[in-house]
Amino acid sequence: MHIQLTGKRAVVSGSTKGIGYAIARGLAAAGAAVLINGRSEQTVAASVDKLKRDVPGAEVDGIAADLSRAEGVSWLLEHWPEADILVNNVGVFEPKPFFEITDEEWEYYMQLHVMAAMRLSRHYAKGMVERGWGRVLFNASVTGGFFSGEMVHYGTAKAALLGLSRGIAESVAGSGVTVNSFLPGPTRTERVETFFEGAAQTAGKTFEQLEQEMYAGSLPTSLVQRFIRPEEVASLVVFLASEQASAITGATMRADGGIVRSMV
Ligand code: NAD
Repeated sequence: MHIQLTGKRAVVSGSTKGIGYAIARGLAAAGAAVLINGRSEQTVAASVDKLKRDVPGAEVDGIAADLSRAEGVSWLLEHWPEADILVNNVGVFEPKPFFEITDEEWEYYMQLHVMAAMRLSRHYAKGMVERGWGRVLFNASVTGGFFSGEMVHYGTAKAALLGLSRGIAESVAGSGVTVNSFLPGPTRTERVETFFEGAAQTAGKTFEQLEQEMYAGSLPTSLVQRFIRPEEVASLVVFLASEQASAITGATMRADGGIVRSMV
């Protein structure tokens, strides 16, 4: 199968690093023009340059916009009013006991994960329907579908994305626009790497030793027994964004290394 996205315009929210950057790179490598987004001008400019180096000839643009605020979303939409592929990727997470999560933190998680995705999808999906082709994707994390104990605010926000995704898929039925969620398992991003390298150093172990122990002890159902790589998530997203995935809509797809003990 050869995936070709030449002529398509793709917006990836929260894409200066981590899973978002890998998705932007994957889409650009398949030929799409890509909009990179993050919070600071400097980080966005550096990521745009990096992507142009990683994928020579790629058409890449960038915008600094804080998507936790309606004004930030409007600013991005003014800059790029149309897209054929929207990847609602932006998100933050931090374990915190339920009784310590404040109203302000709940509000922030809801604004950044749910409201930003809703606002971007409502705008872009309209144009996609009018043009008869489009892809809307949500990074709902395996947490959204299956467990959220350590991060109830995060898990609740991600679970809401599943409702949004299915709801929009039904709202655009028969239009040529598909809407899906993808659920990565724990992923070895720069942030995760820095955290675990620090923890490994403190414990006098290597990253790989700590990873092995963590999977054997806390995540024994993982079938790969290691972190997922951002590129592995990006491969699923590029496929879902492709012409070849035209029959997949209203669905949730996991890239979690089989961590969830489910047959469907
Ligand atoms: P990351 O911290 O590596 O990158 C986050 C990106 O989002 C950065 O580009 C950052 O600039 C941007 N960002 C953060 N807040 C923003 C804001 N207010 N406005 C605009 N941009 C903002 O993150 P990651 O680990 O790659 O996670 C990306 C997505 O994947 C998130 O939705 C996360 O919930 C999800 N996820 C992560 C993992 C994991 O283990 N890393 C697993 C499953 C799902």
